[in-house]
Amino acid sequence: MKTSSPIRNLVTGGAGFLGSHLVDRLMKAGEEVICIDNFFTGRKRNLEHWIDNPYFELIRHDVTEPILLEVDRIWHLACPASPVHYQFNPIKTAKTSFLGTYNMLGLARRVEARFLLASSSEVYGNPELNPQPESYAGCVNTIGVRSCYDEGKRISETLCSDYKRMNNTQIRIARIFNTYGPRMLPNDGRVISNFIVQAMNKKKLTIYGDGSQTRSFCYVDDLVDGLIRLMNSSYSFPVNIGNPDEMTINQVAKIINNKFNNVEKFEYLEKPLDDPFRRKPLIDLAYQKLKWKPKINFNEGIEKTCIYFRKNFFDN
Ligand code: NAD
Ligand code: UDP
Repeated sequence: MKTSSPIRNLVTGGAGFLGSHLVDRLMKAGEEVICIDNFFTGRKRNLEHWIDNPYFELIRHDVTEPILLEVDRIWHLACPASPVHYQFNPIKTAKTSFLGTYNMLGLARRVEARFLLASSSEVYGNPELNPQPESYAGCVNTIGVRSCYDEGKRISETLCSDYKRMNNTQIRIARIFNTYGPRMLPNDGRVISNFIVQAMNKKKLTIYGDGSQTRSFCYVDDLVDGLIRLMNSSYSFPVNIGNPDEMTINQVAKIINNKFNNVEKFEYLEKPLDDPFRRKPLIDLAYQKLKWKPKINFNEGIEKTCIYFRKNFFDN
């Protein structure tokens, strides 16, 4: 009797926050996973539970260099996601976005693998439209401090679309909105991890600007579920994956402070350049094409994330 062999996945950036959760889901489904990562913001510790598994392989590799591997599916997540990290070396971020995506698409073409790009809500820049549908072309500064990342994701989407048109490469584009959960680094610099670390240590929470800017936060398990549904679908245009529960940064600060009974309040600091004022995904398309919508509300997701941070980074 012929038995089908497991799907062979390549996860770039698999040692990072989202990548490692995706690897967990694929491994638990009995699939094979090769993870490549340069460990800029990723950690082996995020994957240590799979190291001895014969279905798993971890390779130190930078996606700005080509690599040849035999795989069926490529999940291309390699790219720093926090503004602090992607602005650390913006030229490297642009290289990772362009050359990295180009190399991985070249591999997808060569081995006829299906390719999923982890794109971002940042392709919408500082949106004039709220919420943002996939049809919105965005309002992006080409020369600002966020441009290396925003334009990097835009050129990545362009490359995917041209590989589809020229070579029939099977592409999927996930426009991921702010996602949070366990395995975010305490020094990641993004708002949820910053606020949790500060509240846990009874410090003032650092609010950039007046805190009236908004974001919509998605719990990591919901996000990974959306990525898997998109990869399994036949839809090859961009899809927003995010939680439309929009809140101000002031609201987020209050909720997290309450979780830790932190009596310290807030420290208002200068707002970073080009910081988008509002962000909220329209997710009708995700529901229509993937039957996906998030299940975990902010309170529940923050609770799980706080438990992780208390367990791993609080030694009192
Ligand atoms: P992360 O920083 O935790 O993970 C990124 C991973 O990519 C890390 O393991 C890092 O070491 C690796 N990496 C970076 N540059 C590389 C290179 N040149 N070669 C090989 N590996 C490299 O970030 P994350 O939150 O897990 O984000 C994963 C992907 O999802 C990124 O592409 C990011 O742009 C996208 N995304 C994330 C969010 C979010 O809220 N988490 C939102 C939108 C888009
Ligand atoms: N932010 C903040 N305090 C922090 C970190 C971030 O007020 O300590 C703000 C930031 O200016 C932005 C929002 O929180 O308006 C989300 O920032 P993050 O870096 O998490 O994501 P992004 O800006 O890429 O959406």
